[in-house]
Amino acid sequence: MQLDLLIEKIADKDLRHIAEKVFEGKRLSFQDAVKLFYTADLTLVGSLAEYLNRQKNGMFAYFVVNRQINPTNVCIYQCNFCSFGVTKSDPRAYEMTLEEILKKVEETHKMGGREVHIVGGIPPHWKYENYVGLVREIKNSFPDMVVKAWTAIEIHHMSKISGKSYEKVLLELKEAGLDAIPGGGAEIFSERVRKLIAPYKANAEEYLEVHRTAHKLGIPTNATMLYGHLETYEERVEHMERLRELQDETGGFQVFIPLAYWPEGTRLGGKRTSSVDDLKTVAISRLFLDNFDHIKAYWITLGEKVAQVALNMGADDLDGTIQEEKIVHAAGTKSAVGHTKERLIKLIRDAGKIPVERDTFYNPIAIYP
Ligand code: SF4
Repeated sequence: MQLDLLIEKIADKDLRHIAEKVFEGKRLSFQDAVKLFYTADLTLVGSLAEYLNRQKNGMFAYFVVNRQINPTNVCIYQCNFCSFGVTKSDPRAYEMTLEEILKKVEETHKMGGREVHIVGGIPPHWKYENYVGLVREIKNSFPDMVVKAWTAIEIHHMSKISGKSYEKVLLELKEAGLDAIPGGGAEIFSERVRKLIAPYKANAEEYLEVHRTAHKLGIPTNATMLYGHLETYEERVEHMERLRELQDETGGFQVFIPLAYWPEGTRLGGKRTSSVDDLKTVAISRLFLDNFDHIKAYWITLGEKVAQVALNMGADDLDGTIQEEKIVHAAGTKSAVGHTKERLIKLIRDAGKIPVERDTFYNPIAIYP
């Protein structure tokens, strides 16, 4: 009865129809999601998304004690939207030694962290064994650490330089200790935009095929979308639709992470997204990706305050302690580079949700009511 009253108050008949679909548990169409992007009624979109989120996750909001490691910023691809990847001769170029990386993993392990998230540039001098060997070294030294490593772009590159299929590469990484794959590198699937922002890296089909193969081999993965540069709303929905289709096929995605574009220092330039756009994108992804259990409000790109609001507009996960983020910071984000577990618990509590410390696979470790 309450829902009926709420629906009656929606003046726009298309929005009313979308609200009815949400309350009846029906899937939104491409046109529905586009309509939501064009509406000015953020409160309605956010409320619908939060309704759906609470059906799935109740009042829980997740975080993980983890560490991000970016072994090098040297990258052959030089994507126009990225200010992290540099050439080898650039004065900002760095490459960590194995000892430095293991020391960082050890620090995280000592503070109770059980996940390392490893992504970086694609250096011209790295061999296939560099990628596999790093996973093996970490797993051998810290067997109880979950190694979430290498984006689909890096796995595609490994396949190229080794001449091995995605399946073979993934099997060898799994054998070395790989547990999961992060979602980076999806950017935006639209060929039109990809040509302009990232012309050299793996294309949409290759990204999706790496994830499809990983799912087939029992390796869970995450999915992302970089928004707020040159793409249209229609291209955002098209991107999410391709992820939704693959999720219908495999069920192997754990979480969707909308990533706001940060322009500082990039060749592409442009403006930072507005908070309204950020919140609407989180909310619409919750509504459209009905087969994803989790939507992340990545505090590094959204900033803490917007991420807290996002936890009330469809998102149920803040990511983690991270400890040392370099990629989005190179592009100008003013967020901290990392947070303590206590800080994340407070952020979630202050957002009105119940903090749940999780592992990489969304199994609860501790609830902080
Ligand atoms: S986005 Fe990734 S692949 Fe592209 S330049 Fe940056 S580090 Fe390299």
